[in-house]
Amino acid sequence: MRQVYLDYSATTPVKKEVLDEMLPYFTENFGNPSSLYSIAAEPKEALAKARHQVAQLIGAQDKEITFTSCGTEADNWAVMGTADALKNKGNHIITTKIEHHALLHTCEFLEKRGYEVTYLDVDSEGRVDPADLEAAITDKTILVSIMFVNNEVGTIEPIKELAAVAKKHGVLFHTDAVQAVGNVAIDVKELGVDMLSMSAHKIYGPKGVGALYTHKGVRISNYLHGGAQESKKRAGTENTAGIVGFGKAAELARTGLEEHIRHSSQMRDYLIEEIQKNLENVYVNGSMEHRHPGNANLTFEYIEGEAMLLYLDMNGIAVSTGSACSSASLTPSHVLSALGIPVERIHGTLRMTVGDMTTKEDIDYVVSTLTKVVNKLREISSVSSKKGW
Ligand SMILES: *Cc1c(COP(=O)(O)O)cnc(C)c1O
Repeated sequence: MRQVYLDYSATTPVKKEVLDEMLPYFTENFGNPSSLYSIAAEPKEALAKARHQVAQLIGAQDKEITFTSCGTEADNWAVMGTADALKNKGNHIITTKIEHHALLHTCEFLEKRGYEVTYLDVDSEGRVDPADLEAAITDKTILVSIMFVNNEVGTIEPIKELAAVAKKHGVLFHTDAVQAVGNVAIDVKELGVDMLSMSAHKIYGPKGVGALYTHKGVRISNYLHGGAQESKKRAGTENTAGIVGFGKAAELARTGLEEHIRHSSQMRDYLIEEIQKNLENVYVNGSMEHRHPGNANLTFEYIEGEAMLLYLDMNGIAVSTGSACSSASLTPSHVLSALGIPVERIHGTLRMTVGDMTTKEDIDYVVSTLTKVVNKLREISSVSSKKGW
């Protein structure tokens, strides 16, 4: 049976060139980069090279990049580190209703400890209005955190405009760019952001490594305490092999960005067009104009996303549902809810995300399987509704 992976926004496979660069750092180059003897020199240089590769991908200086254990840690650190460092200035944080749980649950944690959080609304395409941000800022606001690209519907936010609003009011601006890096051209200087989170496993690098960009001069409190690693900003012996892999993945993402965007959007557009040609009552969620190149988030009316997911899985196809972040539960996605999509429609939603290894043959197989699955499920649901079940 054919296997088709259409969940690149959940994670990506490690590219061969990336793995090849990583392998020596598990064995011959195993030395602790903080040690002073000569076998630590090579791992230490490798960290410096990776830092440069990651910095280049977003137009940062090397020393503005601090490696973390994942995107989640970078998000937690940005929020908690700012909340602690600026607690004498204020206790108000502004974010949005469509953030990743790495951000939302951190904000909820702080709310229980006396911080106040404003969760901005988005429009029906998932975009935040800079005027709404401006209206929410008070003299107690210490941080604005707005994601660059949404992981469920793929909407790209107007980060430059939003960061300018925060700057005008002297408030720090953080963006969770985990889905943006490698999918959108990023230049932190041009964007004017103070902090930006990244993760390697979303850009064909290994799991368990991320980074936080902090603009020169931005001082937030440490989150992990211990040794003097990462210029004393983030303690813990460096994940050398992982960081080396992140560096190589960042280099490939930078040099291949145009081709990646061209290929992904071509596959994504073909997928959406073919589905809409074969099936009625299918709607695209999010913005077509400001969209992640590989994201297709579609609602199939009258059926359940979970049922589609299971049938597709039996046919070797991996996708996510409208409850993507809580796949074990049937809680409707907070993102689709924030876009104003009714609950029945949310339940009929699939997120399909394509990437560098997706082929036209993969899409043809998915479309023909999906057409059969949807027709069958709709038949069952119309029979059951006629019988009054
Ligand atoms: C995947 C993801 C994260 C979490 O990154 P991890 O490295 O898996 O912890 C955070 N934010 C967004 C938008 C993501 O897509």
